[in-house]
Amino acid sequence: MKIVMLGAPGAGKGTQAKMIAAKYEVPHISTGDIFRANIKNGTELGRKAKEYMDQGLLVPDELTVDLVIDRLSQEDCKKGYILDGFPRTIPQAEALDAALAKRGEKMDYAIDVDVPDENIVNRMSGRRACTGCGATYHIVHNPSGKGDVCEVCGEVLVLRDDDKPETVQKRLTVYHDQTQPLIDYYTTQGILKAVDGTQDMNDVFTAITKILEA
Ligand code: ADP
Ligand code: AMP
Repeated sequence: MKIVMLGAPGAGKGTQAKMIAAKYEVPHISTGDIFRANIKNGTELGRKAKEYMDQGLLVPDELTVDLVIDRLSQEDCKKGYILDGFPRTIPQAEALDAALAKRGEKMDYAIDVDVPDENIVNRMSGRRACTGCGATYHIVHNPSGKGDVCEVCGEVLVLRDDDKPETVQKRLTVYHDQTQPLIDYYTTQGILKAVDGTQDMNDVFTAITKILEA
């Protein structure tokens, strides 16, 4: 089962990807998480990626594509995976398809978690991310049972720098310009499935499982 999660920043891709990964026992691969881990560990990639992320811009394809393609060749990806936040540009999608084709494989589903821009700023200003394990909460819709710290690892929860309203607006513009065209790209391939991402997160998950089990 190979799945690409599509949707605006803050639409709920990561939330759903984690639930799908747990239910179907496939790895959840988030490029945003990979970049944030590199920033935390002070790597050269992290330093370069941060320059773009802090401005709400995409990290260049040259820094992103090989990273993901390498990750997909690891053993745990043999029975499938969920890509969250990749591809985000048409060249990334084409590079992914080319790498899959070389192995005689193809993507199975592109799931678009559809949330209008009006809801996004609220989603992102309320998002809290764990500085330890990367778990994600929402102060209203999905609060941590332990207040300001993570339920999973006990580390402190923060508002991501790129979730501040001024950066969110930029990220939405970038999404519409560079990422939304992927909806047509995967529609043409016949694998696009859209779900209404404004529903409660459990209802979104039910809609996705219906698609995957149809
Ligand atoms: P993405 O990975 O698309 O950027 P997230 O999964 O991190 O988005 O979700 C963004 C924020 O919205 C998080 O704070 C998350 O807890 C919250 N959220 C996710 N899905 C829903 C939902 N269906 N309803 C309300 N809030 C949600
Ligand atoms: P995310 O955690 O998916 O919201 O990603 C956070 C940020 O990481 C994005 O705003 C981009 O700056 C960067 N990023 C994540 N995935 C990609 C990608 N596939 N291509 C380019 N930049 C990315």
